[in-house]
Amino acid sequence: APGSEVAIIVGCGHAAGELATRLREQGWAGRVIMIGEEPHLPYQRPPLSKGFLEGKTGLSDLFLKPQATYDLAQIEVILNTRVEAIDRTNRTVTLSDGSSLQYTKLAIATGGRQRPLPGADTARAEACDNFHYLRTLDDALKIRELLKAGKRMVVVGGGYVGLEVAATAIKHGLQVTVVEAGPRLLGRVTSPAMSAFFEQVHCQAGVDIRTGTLVEGLEFDGLRVVAVRSHAGERIPADVVVVGVGLLPNTGLAEAAGLAVDNGILVDAFCVTSDPDILALGDCCNHPNPVVGRNIRLESVPNAVEQARSAASTMCGQGEPYRMVPWFWSDQYDLKLKSVGLCEGHERIVMRGTMEGRAFSLFYLKGKRILAIDTINRPQDFVMGKRLVGERIEVDDDALIDESTPLNKFFTASL
Ligand code: FAD
Repeated sequence: APGSEVAIIVGCGHAAGELATRLREQGWAGRVIMIGEEPHLPYQRPPLSKGFLEGKTGLSDLFLKPQATYDLAQIEVILNTRVEAIDRTNRTVTLSDGSSLQYTKLAIATGGRQRPLPGADTARAEACDNFHYLRTLDDALKIRELLKAGKRMVVVGGGYVGLEVAATAIKHGLQVTVVEAGPRLLGRVTSPAMSAFFEQVHCQAGVDIRTGTLVEGLEFDGLRVVAVRSHAGERIPADVVVVGVGLLPNTGLAEAAGLAVDNGILVDAFCVTSDPDILALGDCCNHPNPVVGRNIRLESVPNAVEQARSAASTMCGQGEPYRMVPWFWSDQYDLKLKSVGLCEGHERIVMRGTMEGRAFSLFYLKGKRILAIDTINRPQDFVMGKRLVGERIEVDDDALIDESTPLNKFFTASL
């Protein structure tokens, strides 16, 4: 009977939390058990490098839902506990407290962990209290303690998380240096034009940006990192070091259970892995994206939420496929970046608005179609842009550039 079925969710992050409540909304009658190794209920990570780090967002605002919501929905939450192994033959999972649980359907939402800073000094640095990665609430609490005016912070990695930390730290009066190995900031996620814009903004704010600079080693004084050394022999003194050099998907559990893994746990359009009773969702999974036309692994909240919707529907026997235009946001200073689509493979870029006015959109085009849009402080362009990219609507460059032509003109033209 459906009431005796057991849904087990591995992980207690954004995707897991969404899935648990949606299972109830979609009519899952049996037990729902969510198991996470962190000591917290599911919370939002984006504020950890923005409002929460700055002290504007309170702790209670981070949580997706209060405990009472899970209680009311009869969702059993087990915290401080790792799922150590999956036995697919007997349909059980083994937990770090030695117990095991039987599942009817299993959903893996294990997210990812920070890529360690490469190099021989990393293990020693990780034992220092002024060297941190930023993935968890506990990481953010530790970094927040170190945001003291006048201190020198070195941020290793010029991706979104690193730049958001830099923006927050400089606002707090720290001296901030960003060290990026690649030739430009945000090299993996946006175009050279947008990278140059962000570099200029950070420089104007007083951040010392060093691109093309590989960290070769660290200097210590007892249990403190005191400097970062570059491959070119530069020595950058540091009171605090924050490292954001990418994410490694947590796929070990799935791999050990013999599930197909390739840069993430492989799933189909319904979030189902190579085992029909096991699903995967969020940062840990690699999925076919119908808009982009190939498999991708996304690290974003909108993706986690959309996959939770699809996974809940699959587990409840309805099977709503995942269909999302990839999108993402980042807040730095007064800038609200919202990106939609993936810009790789674009032939040209057209701009609407101006960089000087700090309100513009870059449209990445191939033929007559928009592959992606980066919008800065232009929420309307983002709303329209999601449809233009998702519905693969044909556009013309002149109308995109001309601000007197509303973007919804293209929808009517395509009818
Ligand atoms: P997670 O939220 O990482 O949750 C996975 C959970 O599973 C973790 O709690 C982990 O401890 C647990 N777990 C792993 N293995 C096991 C196991 N074996 N047993 C039990 N538990 C396990 N996205 C945006 O869209 N916009 C942003 O502006 C943005 N900013 C970000 C800023 C920061 C600082 C960070 C860290 C991330 C940001 N992201 C942002 C990304 C976003 O937070 C992630 O995409 C999202 O959290 C993914 O959710 P998830 O559930 O897949 O993974």
